[in-house]
Amino acid sequence: MNVYGNNIARLIDELNRLPGIGAKSAARLAFHIINMEESRVQALAMAISQAKATVRYCQECCTITDISPCGICSGTKRDNTTIMVVEDSRDLAAYERIKEYRGLYHVLQGAISPMAGITPEHLRIKELLARLTGDVQEVIIATNPNVEGEATAIYLSRLLKDTVRVTRIAHGVPIGGDLEHVDDITLARALEGRREI
Ligand code: ZN
Repeated sequence: MNVYGNNIARLIDELNRLPGIGAKSAARLAFHIINMEESRVQALAMAISQAKATVRYCQECCTITDISPCGICSGTKRDNTTIMVVEDSRDLAAYERIKEYRGLYHVLQGAISPMAGITPEHLRIKELLARLTGDVQEVIIATNPNVEGEATAIYLSRLLKDTVRVTRIAHGVPIGGDLEHVDDITLARALEGRREI
């Protein structure tokens, strides 16, 4: 028998399963939740279950969205001659945040990693190739500046360079860092300083 009773113990246990949430944080969050207004708790529970129920991949860029094509792919003011390739939707969000880039994106859903058994076939590369038949003139490779991201950039460059201009963002970003955590100015400079590969 748990000191808090089974239902609270279950809530703590579920929160404890989330990344970065240890036992103490889970208990703190659980007590915060049970002290919240009933309407806020309902809104939180609803947001979690609706997000999960409606999540899908955009049919064009493969980002995580709840409408397909996503808001960026269906936007009328985007430059459809440029596609920026990123590893995941959080990297896309980082570039959208700096408002320097008006082209389209393609989300690979990961990076090549022989150690983790992730090969090109596991990534959304086929979907990228299918998009290069139209107006696309440049593919900017913005995978993370770590071993996996570089391996993916080299692979894509070899695959695409006979079809389209391929560039790689500059390395103003810290080695091994995830794009999501890079500050806006560094990210904007990395984009500006991209080079052909
Ligand atoms: Zn999209």
